[in-house]
Amino acid sequence: MPTQLPSKGTLYIVSAPSGAGKTSLVRALLERIAGIQVSVSHTTRAMRPGEHNGVNYHFVDVTTFERLIESGDFIEYARVFDNYYGTSRAAVQALLDAGQDVILEIDWQGARQVRAAFDEAVSVFILPPSREALHARLSGRGTDDEATIARRMRDAVDEMSHYAEYEHIIINDTFAHALDELSCLVHAERTRVTRVRKAHAPLLAALLSRVEDVE
Ligand code: GDP
Ligand code: ADP
Ligand code: 5GP
Repeated sequence: MPTQLPSKGTLYIVSAPSGAGKTSLVRALLERIAGIQVSVSHTTRAMRPGEHNGVNYHFVDVTTFERLIESGDFIEYARVFDNYYGTSRAAVQALLDAGQDVILEIDWQGARQVRAAFDEAVSVFILPPSREALHARLSGRGTDDEATIARRMRDAVDEMSHYAEYEHIIINDTFAHALDELSCLVHAERTRVTRVRKAHAPLLAALLSRVEDVE
Protein backbone atom coordinates (compact mmCIF):
# COMPACT_ATOMS: atom_id res chain seq x y z
CA MET A 1 0.00 0.00 0.00
CA PRO A 2 1.60 3.33 -1.02
CA THR A 3 1.67 5.67 1.99
CA GLN A 4 1.69 9.23 0.76
CA LEU A 5 -1.08 10.73 2.94
CA PRO A 6 -1.34 13.12 4.81
CA SER A 7 0.19 16.40 3.66
CA LYS A 8 -1.13 19.79 4.80
CA GLY A 9 -4.36 18.77 6.51
CA THR A 10 -4.93 16.51 9.49
CA LEU A 11 -6.55 13.11 9.06
CA TYR A 12 -9.19 12.18 11.65
CA ILE A 13 -10.66 8.74 12.23
CA VAL A 14 -14.08 8.71 13.90
CA SER A 15 -15.63 5.38 14.89
CA ALA A 16 -18.68 4.41 16.92
CA PRO A 17 -21.25 1.67 17.09
CA SER A 18 -24.08 2.32 14.66
CA GLY A 19 -26.57 4.74 16.30
CA ALA A 20 -24.14 6.37 18.75
CA GLY A 21 -24.48 9.69 16.91
CA LYS A 22 -21.32 9.74 14.82
CA THR A 23 -22.92 11.06 11.65
CA SER A 24 -24.96 13.73 13.51
CA LEU A 25 -21.93 14.93 15.45
CA VAL A 26 -19.70 15.09 12.40
CA ARG A 27 -22.36 16.98 10.42
CA ALA A 28 -22.74 19.54 13.24
CA LEU A 29 -18.96 19.87 13.52
CA LEU A 30 -18.67 20.76 9.82
CA GLU A 31 -21.25 23.51 10.29
CA ARG A 32 -19.31 24.93 13.21
CA ILE A 33 -15.69 24.76 11.99
CA ALA A 34 -14.24 25.76 8.63
CA GLY A 35 -11.47 23.88 6.84
CA ILE A 36 -12.67 20.38 7.67
CA GLN A 37 -14.53 17.90 5.45
CA VAL A 38 -15.82 14.38 5.68
CA SER A 39 -14.70 11.70 3.28
CA VAL A 40 -17.55 10.08 1.32
CA SER A 41 -17.06 6.31 1.50
CA HIS A 42 -17.99 3.69 -1.06
CA THR A 43 -20.44 1.03 0.10
CA THR A 44 -22.34 -1.94 -1.29
CA ARG A 45 -25.24 -1.56 1.17
CA ALA A 46 -28.66 -0.44 -0.02
CA MET A 47 -29.43 3.27 0.03
CA ARG A 48 -31.65 4.35 2.96
CA PRO A 49 -34.62 6.64 2.47
CA GLY A 50 -33.33 10.19 2.38
CA GLU A 51 -29.78 9.22 1.37
CA HIS A 52 -28.23 10.42 -1.88
CA ASN A 53 -25.58 8.80 -4.05
CA GLY A 54 -22.31 10.75 -3.83
CA VAL A 55 -23.46 12.62 -0.71
CA ASN A 56 -23.86 10.03 2.06
CA TYR A 57 -21.95 7.33 0.21
CA HIS A 58 -20.93 6.33 -3.28
CA PHE A 59 -23.31 3.39 -3.64
CA VAL A 60 -21.81 0.68 -5.85
CA ASP A 61 -22.41 -3.03 -6.53
CA VAL A 62 -20.12 -5.79 -5.26
CA THR A 63 -18.44 -6.30 -8.65
CA THR A 64 -17.52 -2.61 -8.88
CA PHE A 65 -16.29 -2.58 -5.27
CA GLU A 66 -14.08 -5.63 -5.84
CA ARG A 67 -12.64 -4.03 -8.99
CA LEU A 68 -11.76 -0.93 -6.94
CA ILE A 69 -10.05 -3.15 -4.33
CA GLU A 70 -8.02 -4.84 -7.09
CA SER A 71 -6.88 -1.53 -8.55
CA GLY A 72 -5.73 -0.25 -5.13
CA ASP A 73 -8.22 2.61 -5.02
CA PHE A 74 -8.90 2.26 -1.29
CA ILE A 75 -6.81 3.49 1.65
CA GLU A 76 -8.76 0.95 3.66
CA TYR A 77 -11.83 -1.21 3.26
CA ALA A 78 -13.74 -3.63 5.44
CA ARG A 79 -16.83 -5.80 5.59
CA VAL A 80 -19.31 -4.39 8.10
CA PHE A 81 -22.81 -5.87 8.56
CA ASP A 82 -22.26 -8.11 5.48
CA ASN A 83 -21.55 -5.12 3.24
CA TYR A 84 -18.33 -3.66 1.94
CA TYR A 85 -17.29 -0.16 3.01
CA GLY A 86 -14.14 1.61 1.80
CA THR A 87 -12.33 4.94 1.66
CA SER A 88 -11.08 6.29 -1.66
CA ARG A 89 -7.43 7.28 -1.61
CA ALA A 90 -7.60 9.87 -4.39
CA ALA A 91 -10.46 11.86 -2.86
CA VAL A 92 -8.85 12.02 0.59
CA GLN A 93 -5.43 12.91 -0.78
CA ALA A 94 -6.87 15.78 -2.84
CA LEU A 95 -8.56 17.30 0.22
CA LEU A 96 -5.47 16.96 2.43
CA ASP A 97 -3.26 18.48 -0.27
CA ALA A 98 -5.65 21.43 -0.46
CA GLY A 99 -5.04 22.00 3.26
CA GLN A 100 -8.39 20.63 4.43
CA ASP A 101 -8.68 18.45 7.51
CA VAL A 102 -10.45 15.21 6.61
CA ILE A 103 -12.69 13.01 8.76
CA LEU A 104 -13.02 9.31 8.02
CA GLU A 105 -16.20 7.84 9.55
CA ILE A 106 -15.06 4.24 9.53
CA ASP A 107 -15.31 1.08 11.63
CA TRP A 108 -12.57 -0.31 13.90
CA GLN A 109 -11.15 -2.59 11.18
CA GLY A 110 -10.68 0.36 8.83
CA ALA A 111 -9.29 2.44 11.70
CA ARG A 112 -6.58 -0.17 12.28
CA GLN A 113 -5.55 -0.11 8.63
CA VAL A 114 -5.39 3.70 8.53
CA ARG A 115 -3.47 3.93 11.82
CA ALA A 116 -0.96 1.33 10.62
CA ALA A 117 -0.35 3.25 7.38
CA PHE A 118 -0.46 6.85 8.69
CA ASP A 119 0.74 7.28 12.24
CA GLU A 120 -0.21 10.99 12.23
CA ALA A 121 -3.94 10.16 12.03
CA VAL A 122 -5.92 11.31 15.07
CA SER A 123 -8.50 8.79 16.23
CA VAL A 124 -11.72 9.36 18.16
CA PHE A 125 -14.26 6.83 19.42
CA ILE A 126 -17.82 7.87 20.21
CA LEU A 127 -19.75 5.91 22.85
CA PRO A 128 -23.45 6.09 23.68
CA PRO A 129 -24.40 6.91 27.31
CA SER A 130 -26.08 3.49 27.73
CA ARG A 131 -27.21 0.46 25.76
CA GLU A 132 -30.82 1.56 26.19
CA ALA A 133 -30.02 4.95 24.65
CA LEU A 134 -28.27 3.25 21.74
CA HIS A 135 -31.31 1.10 21.04
CA ALA A 136 -33.64 4.09 21.36
CA ARG A 137 -31.53 6.10 18.89
CA LEU A 138 -31.41 3.28 16.35
CA SER A 139 -35.22 2.90 16.56
CA GLY A 140 -35.83 6.65 16.66
CA ARG A 141 -33.77 7.25 13.52
CA GLY A 142 -36.46 5.36 11.65
CA THR A 143 -34.14 4.14 8.90
CA ASP A 144 -33.75 0.47 9.82
CA ASP A 145 -36.20 -2.39 10.41
CA GLU A 146 -36.31 -4.38 13.70
CA ALA A 147 -34.12 -7.21 12.39
CA THR A 148 -31.46 -4.71 11.23
CA ILE A 149 -31.61 -2.92 14.58
CA ALA A 150 -31.21 -6.22 16.47
CA ARG A 151 -28.20 -7.08 14.31
CA ARG A 152 -26.65 -3.64 14.87
CA MET A 153 -27.17 -3.90 18.66
CA ARG A 154 -25.30 -7.23 18.67
CA ASP A 155 -22.49 -5.83 16.55
CA ALA A 156 -22.31 -2.69 18.74
CA VAL A 157 -20.74 -4.62 21.61
CA ASP A 158 -18.06 -5.95 19.30
CA GLU A 159 -17.36 -2.47 17.86
CA MET A 160 -17.26 -0.87 21.34
CA SER A 161 -14.80 -3.49 22.61
CA HIS A 162 -12.17 -1.70 20.48
CA TYR A 163 -12.53 1.71 22.19
CA ALA A 164 -9.07 1.51 23.84
CA GLU A 165 -7.33 1.47 20.43
CA TYR A 166 -8.35 5.14 20.02
CA GLU A 167 -6.60 8.23 21.40
CA HIS A 168 -9.79 10.10 22.34
CA ILE A 169 -13.17 8.91 23.66
CA ILE A 170 -16.31 11.04 23.56
CA ILE A 171 -19.47 9.92 25.36
CA ASN A 172 -22.41 11.27 23.38
CA ASP A 173 -24.86 11.90 26.22
CA THR A 174 -25.86 15.56 25.84
CA PHE A 175 -25.39 16.31 22.15
CA ALA A 176 -24.15 19.90 22.69
CA HIS A 177 -21.55 18.76 25.19
CA ALA A 178 -20.26 15.98 22.93
CA LEU A 179 -20.08 18.47 20.05
CA ASP A 180 -18.05 20.87 22.23
CA GLU A 181 -15.60 18.09 23.02
CA LEU A 182 -15.20 17.19 19.36
CA SER A 183 -14.73 20.85 18.33
CA CYS A 184 -12.17 21.46 21.08
CA LEU A 185 -10.23 18.45 19.95
CA VAL A 186 -9.99 19.78 16.38
CA HIS A 187 -9.02 23.27 17.57
CA ALA A 188 -6.34 21.83 19.87
CA GLU A 189 -4.88 19.72 17.05
CA ARG A 190 -4.50 22.89 15.00
CA THR A 191 -2.17 24.38 17.65
CA ARG A 192 0.39 21.59 17.33
CA VAL A 193 3.79 22.90 16.29
CA THR A 194 4.02 20.45 13.38
CA ARG A 195 0.68 21.70 12.11
CA VAL A 196 1.43 25.42 12.64
CA ARG A 197 4.71 25.04 10.76
CA LYS A 198 2.82 23.79 7.70
CA ALA A 199 -0.20 26.08 7.94
CA HIS A 200 1.58 29.33 8.80
CA ALA A 201 4.97 29.08 7.09
CA PRO A 202 4.92 32.67 5.70
CA LEU A 203 4.00 34.13 9.11
CA LEU A 204 6.78 32.21 10.86
CA ALA A 205 9.30 33.31 8.23
CA ALA A 206 8.25 36.95 8.63
CA LEU A 207 8.32 36.82 12.43
CA LEU A 208 11.74 35.18 12.52
CA SER A 209 13.55 37.29 9.94
CA ARG A 210 16.28 39.51 11.49
CA VAL A 211 15.11 43.05 12.21
CA GLU A 212 18.00 44.52 10.18
CA ASP A 213 16.85 42.44 7.15
CA VAL A 214 13.47 44.14 7.02
CA GLU A 215 14.63 47.70 7.68
P1 GDP B 1 -24.32 4.11 10.80
O1 GDP B 1 -23.12 3.79 11.60
O2 GDP B 1 -25.59 3.66 11.41
O3 GDP B 1 -24.35 5.52 10.32
O4 GDP B 1 -24.25 3.19 9.54
P2 GDP B 1 -23.37 3.26 8.22
O5 GDP B 1 -23.99 2.29 7.26
O6 GDP B 1 -23.19 4.65 7.78
O7 GDP B 1 -21.99 2.68 8.59
C1 GDP B 1 -21.82 1.27 8.84
C2 GDP B 1 -20.40 0.93 9.34
O8 GDP B 1 -19.49 1.07 8.32
C3 GDP B 1 -19.87 1.82 10.48
O9 GDP B 1 -19.21 1.04 11.44
C4 GDP B 1 -18.93 2.74 9.80
O10 GDP B 1 -17.96 3.22 10.69
C5 GDP B 1 -18.39 1.84 8.73
N1 GDP B 1 -17.88 2.59 7.61
C6 GDP B 1 -18.46 3.57 6.90
N2 GDP B 1 -17.67 3.99 5.93
C7 GDP B 1 -16.55 3.27 6.04
C8 GDP B 1 -15.34 3.23 5.29
O11 GDP B 1 -15.10 3.97 4.33
N3 GDP B 1 -14.42 2.33 5.64
C9 GDP B 1 -14.62 1.50 6.68
N4 GDP B 1 -13.65 0.66 7.00
N5 GDP B 1 -15.73 1.50 7.39
C10 GDP B 1 -16.69 2.37 7.09
P1 ADP C 1 -24.48 6.95 13.70
O1 ADP C 1 -23.98 7.75 12.55
O2 ADP C 1 -23.45 6.77 14.77
O3 ADP C 1 -25.12 5.65 13.32
P2 ADP C 1 -26.59 8.99 13.93
O4 ADP C 1 -25.83 10.27 13.87
O5 ADP C 1 -27.38 8.56 12.73
O6 ADP C 1 -25.64 7.79 14.43
O7 ADP C 1 -27.54 9.10 15.21
C1 ADP C 1 -28.50 8.09 15.51
C2 ADP C 1 -29.77 8.77 16.02
O8 ADP C 1 -29.55 9.29 17.34
C3 ADP C 1 -30.20 9.94 15.16
O9 ADP C 1 -31.61 9.92 15.03
C4 ADP C 1 -29.75 11.17 15.95
O10 ADP C 1 -30.57 12.27 15.72
C5 ADP C 1 -29.83 10.69 17.40
N1 ADP C 1 -28.85 11.29 18.31
C6 ADP C 1 -27.55 11.55 18.07
N2 ADP C 1 -26.93 12.08 19.16
C7 ADP C 1 -27.89 12.16 20.13
C8 ADP C 1 -27.89 12.63 21.49
N3 ADP C 1 -26.79 13.10 22.10
N4 ADP C 1 -29.05 12.55 22.19
C9 ADP C 1 -30.17 12.05 21.60
N5 ADP C 1 -30.24 11.61 20.33
C10 ADP C 1 -29.11 11.65 19.59
P1 5GP D 1 -24.25 2.47 7.89
O1 5GP D 1 -24.52 1.29 7.03
O2 5GP D 1 -25.14 2.53 9.08
O3 5GP D 1 -24.21 3.74 7.09
O4 5GP D 1 -22.76 2.27 8.46
C1 5GP D 1 -22.43 1.16 9.25
C2 5GP D 1 -21.00 1.23 9.69
O5 5GP D 1 -20.08 1.22 8.57
C3 5GP D 1 -20.67 2.45 10.50
O6 5GP D 1 -20.20 2.03 11.75
C4 5GP D 1 -19.62 3.14 9.70
O7 5GP D 1 -18.66 3.74 10.53
C5 5GP D 1 -19.00 2.05 8.84
N1 5GP D 1 -18.42 2.60 7.66
C6 5GP D 1 -18.98 3.50 6.85
N2 5GP D 1 -18.13 3.80 5.85
C7 5GP D 1 -17.00 3.08 6.06
C8 5GP D 1 -15.78 2.98 5.35
O8 5GP D 1 -15.53 3.61 4.33
N3 5GP D 1 -14.88 2.13 5.84
C9 5GP D 1 -15.09 1.40 6.98
N4 5GP D 1 -14.14 0.61 7.39
N5 5GP D 1 -16.23 1.48 7.65
C10 5GP D 1 -17.19 2.31 7.20
